[in-house]
Amino acid sequence: PDVAAKIAAGEVVERPASVVKELIENSIDAGATQIRVDLLHGGLQLIRITDNGSGISLEELPLALARHATSKVAQIDDLEQIRSLGFRGEALASIAAVAEVTLVSRQRGAEQGGQIGALSGQVTEVTRAASPEGTTITVRNLFSAVPARLKFLKSRTTEISHCHHLLEQYALAYPEIRFNVFSEGKQIFSTPGDGQLSSVLVAVYGLQIAEQMVPLSPGDRTEDSDAPIVTGYTSRPTCYKSTRQHISFFVNRRWVLSRMLTTAVEGAYHSLLLTGRHPIAVINIDMDPSLLDVNVHPAKTEIRFLKERRVFAAVLRAVRAALLEEPE
Ligand code: ADP
Ligand code: MG
Repeated sequence: PDVAAKIAAGEVVERPASVVKELIENSIDAGATQIRVDLLHGGLQLIRITDNGSGISLEELPLALARHATSKVAQIDDLEQIRSLGFRGEALASIAAVAEVTLVSRQRGAEQGGQIGALSGQVTEVTRAASPEGTTITVRNLFSAVPARLKFLKSRTTEISHCHHLLEQYALAYPEIRFNVFSEGKQIFSTPGDGQLSSVLVAVYGLQIAEQMVPLSPGDRTEDSDAPIVTGYTSRPTCYKSTRQHISFFVNRRWVLSRMLTTAVEGAYHSLLLTGRHPIAVINIDMDPSLLDVNVHPAKTEIRFLKERRVFAAVLRAVRAALLEEPE
């Protein structure tokens, strides 16, 4: 692959977990209700994602690996109203620039499936292939042609735990999807896909902690009908962790990292004189997408709010109300 493609790839693909993120988002965008993930050697040897989503038609298969080809954003105006997780059409092309990719897919209702691959950035011809409805993408030998990148990676177990953490986040955001995750052939994480966030909490944190989580109430919206809606769970003050890593945020079901939002959650505890500990929380924020800028960085875990104070206040209020309602 040419140098420009490799540099662009570096923006999107930092480590195995970044590949997993892009592939999972594609499966979710395709409406999958079941997603299986297989990892070998922390994802460096193999990452395979199998979904039962809409699949890709034979005609569209070559576009899937092409740069800046997306089936998701029809017009530039649509960017304002993005509801899909992907919209740049560069993830698969970037991954194909730094790994061997095989894509097998059958569109829902189609008689035939197809296969396409990319080796050293060269895309192969589409061939017909037997496939269940849905898509399987296999990414092999990630970064084997980019030794400089390999050097920056940590141990296999570190890469696995990055993938694991990421998959937990998507499972929390999508309780209706059944996730099955295998590492070296052994199941390391699974969710039932029953649509209940509480079930995913059990899968991620175990029953004991899950029982210590209190639901947020959406609050009274009669005064301000387009305020953000905040739902989710937060932990009783008796249940806490030693780091901040267990507070997850999803904005319109997109996983985001935000210091501002973390401060809002912790602020709710502080306002009740509960200090010096880190709660566990899963916070879903539903809001008008035109008040968001998700276009900050290709990896997209950052987000910009047009009315930041309003979101901050809504989160703080929701968490505080949940803690106050809890008879302790
Ligand atoms: P984006 O998600 O930004 O559109 P990607 O490079 O991630 O770009 O994917 C390119 C295109 O390939 C998508 O727009 C979609 O049409 C198709 N695609 C990729 N993965 C899947 C999948 N799992 N199921 C169905 N279509 C997919
Ligand atoms: Mg994508």
